[in-house]
Amino acid sequence: MDNKSNILDITLEYIKGVGPAKAELLKKELKVFRVRDLLTIYPFRYVDRTKFHLIKDLKSDGDTVQLKGKLVSLEKIKGKNNRFRLQGLFKDSSGFIELIWFQGAKWLGNVLKEDHEYVVYGKLTIYKGKKNIAHPEMELLSDRAKDNLQPTFDPVYSSTEKLDSRGLDSKGRRGILKFILGKIREEDVLENIPDYLRTQLKLCTKFQALHWIHFPKNASEKELATNRLKFEELFYLQLRLLLGKETRKKKLKGADFNVVGDYFNTFYKEGLKFELTGAQKRVIKEIRANMGSGVHMNRLLQGDVGSGKTVVGFMSMLLAKDNGYQACMMAPTEILAQQHYAGISELAFPLGLKVGFLSGSVKGKKRQTVLENLKLGEIDILIGTHALIEDPVVFKNLGLAIIDEQHRFGVAQRAKLWKKNTKVAPHVLVMTATPIPRTLAMTVYGDLDVSIIDEMPPGRKLIQTVHQYESARPKVINFMRSEIDKGRQIYVVFPLIEESAKLDLKNLNDGYERLLHFFPMPTYQMSILHGRMKPKDKDFEMDRFVKGVTQIMVATTVIEVGVNVPNASVMIIENTERFGLSQLHQLRGRVGRGSDQSYCILMTGDKLSKESRERIGTMVRTNNGFEIAEADLRLRGPGDIEGTMQSGIMDLKLSSIVEDSGILNAARYYAQAIIERDGDLQHASNQCIKSFLQLSRSNVKIWGRIS
Ligand code: ADP
Ligand code: MG
Repeated sequence: MDNKSNILDITLEYIKGVGPAKAELLKKELKVFRVRDLLTIYPFRYVDRTKFHLIKDLKSDGDTVQLKGKLVSLEKIKGKNNRFRLQGLFKDSSGFIELIWFQGAKWLGNVLKEDHEYVVYGKLTIYKGKKNIAHPEMELLSDRAKDNLQPTFDPVYSSTEKLDSRGLDSKGRRGILKFILGKIREEDVLENIPDYLRTQLKLCTKFQALHWIHFPKNASEKELATNRLKFEELFYLQLRLLLGKETRKKKLKGADFNVVGDYFNTFYKEGLKFELTGAQKRVIKEIRANMGSGVHMNRLLQGDVGSGKTVVGFMSMLLAKDNGYQACMMAPTEILAQQHYAGISELAFPLGLKVGFLSGSVKGKKRQTVLENLKLGEIDILIGTHALIEDPVVFKNLGLAIIDEQHRFGVAQRAKLWKKNTKVAPHVLVMTATPIPRTLAMTVYGDLDVSIIDEMPPGRKLIQTVHQYESARPKVINFMRSEIDKGRQIYVVFPLIEESAKLDLKNLNDGYERLLHFFPMPTYQMSILHGRMKPKDKDFEMDRFVKGVTQIMVATTVIEVGVNVPNASVMIIENTERFGLSQLHQLRGRVGRGSDQSYCILMTGDKLSKESRERIGTMVRTNNGFEIAEADLRLRGPGDIEGTMQSGIMDLKLSSIVEDSGILNAARYYAQAIIERDGDLQHASNQCIKSFLQLSRSNVKIWGRIS
């Protein structure tokens, strides 16, 4: 059969009941153009027409109801404006209800038959205690029994005002879809899940699924169709991601780090001040294997705050040096970059490695020197902010780029890094403390391989977290005093969001003043830190806190990411209700980094929403980043996560990578298995996959031309 005669490829204007004007509107409002496009606009809910209501049970104005009974009487009534309305009295076993038609009274009056049994379907109005249904759909009970195509779940589609007014609301579209589905032959629909997989997973065919998703006759058909289509979406999502990754691996040659040399070994034997955790060792092995294989590495390193990602990153950089390459590490803020610079310089110095620093604040002659040394290969490791990826930054031989706390760096920026070495693409290691479930990570971070540090260094005391209301302020102040007396340091964090930045800043300053009152100079010293300060002032304040000159750091969330001051053991969060869960977890991660018992105090006002209370409850209950991430997903939904994904690849109509994680896991498993066994999709049983990928690619092109 040639493609032209496939009804799915016909543009909608040629479909009965559509025509050019409506087709244009559908294209504008829903971006659907051909029959196949309209078919994939799935219902977002159904009206269950398997069930009949009883008139006496009808209680809520606006409900869609279905009744079965007898049309007792029918009467044309002349209204004030000389127009006729048709009024019917309908009866079931439980009572009576009025039916009204303001339009088509004459015509309907001739069609509807008194004393016959009907199925009545429409929207209930309760007005001054009186029930009626205006413009109900009427179907003779005897007709329904005859017509076994009659659906029993009515699809409801998302619509717009314009569509509604042009008869393209759910009801109108049901008619069009029914017409289309009646014309489609089984061979018109490309089955895109191989038979062996469908059999194994008990999935219905695509042809069945298309019928059932729009017009299921019962709950089980609805479920079969939904499952099948969700699997299909997630399966192709995974397949595309994995195929993309394979292609990149084939195209991009990575620097071959096959030597484990003196730098790595010396540090491992003499430089490490602690025993690596099992997880750290495993992850270093994964990274080493990847970078030593000649294949380009693009890897995500996930580990909860404080799990020790930095040293893993550092040891990876030593491998670069062992193989004659330079390495760099990029951090999202100046403060964090400075800290890494200080920490890594300390580790690198005994090894005789040269470490450079670059950020927007490094200017003039200093900058020139850094850039020159970098190009000459005089710098082994460069630490900095996103200034590292700017064009004037030229390495002699970059082999590895590490990105810390990746959520602030996008895919495009990563790609820019690859181009920093024209001979071989530098390996990329992205480190993040944002814990998300594994399969989700694999999907969100698309083409990245994932390594996970799921073990904390030993001897860490669990941070004790409590929730306090404003009324407990004096108690909190006393607690702060006693901790400071023990030589500890304290963070006090205020929220700062862009929309209310001015107010928040005032809040922060007020808080600072109030604390000054309780902790007067010179007995006590305080630092203050917020995003509006000049980098120089920020560094000055941060530095005083790091060195222990100040005991209290009053700050906004600029300290959220990565900052490491082991002596700080108390984190006080103000207006906790205004923070999201993962942000709270990040903030709490600033303490508990030394050997002392650490505390996190969540301050709130008295009035809390249910959701805030749940968030705070989660924080108090657990320190586990993965558990918190899951609660966060549940409370906030996947919006944020899905938003960070590459668009285009993610075109999920039915499934959600969060709610359908079971299907997602299966989809990934089978996609992976297929790519391992038949990466080029040569096998006969996988031909349908190949055809579908080609078809969807050409569909994307068609859209490119018409929209
Ligand atoms: P994060 O994963 O949050 O970036 P860091 O790399 O900053 O964590 O490590 C947190 C602290 O734990 C640092 O002071 C680091 O020196 C220390 N650390 C890392 N690994 C270990 C280990 N295996 N044993 C003991 N301490 C460790
Ligand atoms: Mg870190």
